[in-house]
Amino acid sequence: MKNLLVAVIATTASMAGASQDIVDQYPQSELYSKPVEVIPHVYSAIGATAPPGFGNAGHNNNLSFIVTSEGVIVVNAGASDKLAVALHDEIRKVTDQPVVLVINENGQGHAMLGNGYWADLGVDILAHVDAVEEIRETSDNMIQRMQVYSKTGADGTRVVEPNITFEDEYDISLGGVNIRVLHLGSAHDPGDIQVWIPDWDLMIAGDIAFHERMLPVFAHTCTSCWIETWEEKLEPLAPTYVIPGHGHPTNLAQVRRYTYDYLVDLRAKIGAHIEDGGDLAGAYYVDQSKWTNLDTFDELATRNAGRVYEEMEWE
Ligand SMILES: [Zn+2]
Repeated sequence: MKNLLVAVIATTASMAGASQDIVDQYPQSELYSKPVEVIPHVYSAIGATAPPGFGNAGHNNNLSFIVTSEGVIVVNAGASDKLAVALHDEIRKVTDQPVVLVINENGQGHAMLGNGYWADLGVDILAHVDAVEEIRETSDNMIQRMQVYSKTGADGTRVVEPNITFEDEYDISLGGVNIRVLHLGSAHDPGDIQVWIPDWDLMIAGDIAFHERMLPVFAHTCTSCWIETWEEKLEPLAPTYVIPGHGHPTNLAQVRRYTYDYLVDLRAKIGAHIEDGGDLAGAYYVDQSKWTNLDTFDELATRNAGRVYEEMEWE
């Protein structure tokens, strides 16, 4: 089933499907899977569609890179120094061009804990101002959690803040490629960014877009904002190709289905529950059976329902 869904992009049709039970697809590497060329010059190492753990070394999000004739741009530093090293090894296999910029898709551990490796090489690191704020507030906790699950995989990892920040848009022209780094608005995380390459009709969407696994609603996630950002800012760009924050590269319709449609459905269910006078304890059990095919359903469905109830209670 999932292989069929992935086959919408011919260039990636040979990739394995997603299942959170698959412990590792690339045992020779710290990476969970070997990068694939999604469209010409854009590669992505697809992370496990499972929570971070020892088996996937914390590589449970997508680590992408864009190759140009004037250098390489990396999207996400990865959850550890070792993952950054492993991704760099893969970049060297496809190009002699140096990495000139690393972008953190937000302030979460798997976007930024590998920053130290890149900073030591003198590479600039870009993030949204709110992501840097999140790193300042939560990175001690993030690195400790990573050290617990990753064990020796954490060796060498330290927290390094991005040295370049932006608020709305950061435009890059490199090797004739125009790359728009956007903050479309609050979505999964306040500091979410999207890397949009209009000439190639591709968006490296980060955590505004999920595929193949259930999205997590965090305590600080504003789901009404996420829906609004999606409708008003993401849809008008209408990318043909989407590399989501999690799950295989696909198209806009597919990430809409598993991100936007899920949020709208969950909010409708919780809204009806509140209308009926329902409480938080009951909110955990609203019907989410439509989404059981998604990986991490068991870990997240009830938790998400509780968080959306807490958000909607005040609306
Ligand atoms: Zn993520």
